[in-house]
Amino acid sequence: MRSYDCAIVGSGPAGLGAAFEILARRPDARVLILEREKVSSGGLRNDCKMNFSWPIGFPTEYWPVEVADAYLRRVEDFLQPTILPQRNISTYERRASRIGVQLLKVRQSHLGTDGGLELIKSLLSRLSGLGAEISLEEELISIDRERKTARTSKGEFEWDQLVVAPGRHGFDFLRGFMRENAIEFSDNSIDVGVRVETRAEHYPIVKDYYDPKFLFPERTRTFCTNSGAAHVVQERYLARNGETYYSVNGHAYSAASRANGLVNFAVLRSVEFTQPLASGQDYAEFLASLAMLTGGGHPIMQRIGDFRLGKRTTRDGLNDDLYDFEPSLASCTPGDISLAMPAKFLRSIWKALKQLDTIVPGVLHPATILYYPEIKLYANKPRFLDANFQAADGIYLVGDGAGTSRGITAAWASGMRAADGIAARKGW
Ligand SMILES: Cc1cc2nc3c(=O)[nH]c(=O)nc-3n(C[C@H](O)[C@H](O)[C@H](O)COP(=O)(O)OP(=O)(O)OC[C@H]3O[C@@H](n4cnc5c(N)ncnc54)[C@H](O)[C@@H]3O)c2cc1C
Repeated sequence: MRSYDCAIVGSGPAGLGAAFEILARRPDARVLILEREKVSSGGLRNDCKMNFSWPIGFPTEYWPVEVADAYLRRVEDFLQPTILPQRNISTYERRASRIGVQLLKVRQSHLGTDGGLELIKSLLSRLSGLGAEISLEEELISIDRERKTARTSKGEFEWDQLVVAPGRHGFDFLRGFMRENAIEFSDNSIDVGVRVETRAEHYPIVKDYYDPKFLFPERTRTFCTNSGAAHVVQERYLARNGETYYSVNGHAYSAASRANGLVNFAVLRSVEFTQPLASGQDYAEFLASLAMLTGGGHPIMQRIGDFRLGKRTTRDGLNDDLYDFEPSLASCTPGDISLAMPAKFLRSIWKALKQLDTIVPGVLHPATILYYPEIKLYANKPRFLDANFQAADGIYLVGDGAGTSRGITAAWASGMRAADGIAARKGW
């Protein structure tokens, strides 16, 4: 049987962060990276804008500022990003603070989806050069904790230390994994919102600040801004009842040749549940299924002009006076978001959008499109045994799926932190 000092499940940034750190600590370690997709490095494939300032991407319950800053320095040293310049920030800050909104200053880099693929290629070839085994199209099915073995879609192997980093798409897998291995967890929070798409000239702040992070009252924020060659996309999820649902997202290419003059960004509101509803995933699946019902199996899109008038957007309406640009995700159903989004989210998000329009006038142009739903499930909260995300003897759960990160840099830092824990325990 194959045998490894450290097996890592998932080739996203959390898995890679762990792999590089383990090999830096102990170059002769037998390291396996298991990836269920044909080609991957998880979320590095999407847009690849990286944030190097706390708290962006760092769930603060695990990451006090000093700890996150120390890891961010290490991530930055390793990845050597080119930090984007920012301009006129004090003007936007002043406008925001007058109406109770905060603009966070964040050190950012942006590779674009194409640039991300180049980064992935170079990281994977470096890892292979360091002796790691990368097994694509091999999915972890289950483990035997006593025997320290794992069963996969291709066979079995032995592990001494196991890092499980399956990302947001592995959210459900991880819940099953935790149940089977008697790892306690809670999942009581959720982010729900819309993705806004408009012409770059209606959101000109992106020329000064690539991914501006505004914090509005009521736990509402802007998130994941893409511009230049920007596209709204849909991610497919399988609910536990077997139904498919979609959540929208966004990304951009780096190449100016593909420029489409559009911008997209999310406005999300976070909610934490108390008894009797304790599962963010159950709630997310319910909301998504309502959205799919109203959208005929697709996400919904609505022009701001129609939203203001309280009427649905129609396919024909997309071509009338309000017509200004073609939606980049044309497969969505023109409709009425307020039929599908609970008032608590809708009110806060609409309030935030009006505030944003005061700070960056023009964003609420009648042609601006709201896409729904954008749902973020990264709220699995395993009960960890230590600060290095060890959830059971020799088993570490990290990254977005395990709720230790909400973005690339924090996911990488999470993997590194697990590797630090392994190295400390093993004396590497
Ligand atoms: C469209 C889009 C755009 C985004 N843009 C940005 C951005 O610009 N900046 C940013 O910071 N974040 C962005 N994100 C979020 C970012 O991708 C994640 O925060 C990050 O990738 C999380 O890293 P991770 O390693 O935890 O998980 P992932 O990157 O999701 O990697 C997990 C990997 O594990 C594999 N896997 C899952 N289950 C198994 C299993 N059972 N066996 C084997 N392999 C398995 C998956 O196939 C996947 O490759 C974006 C996400 C999306 C979807």
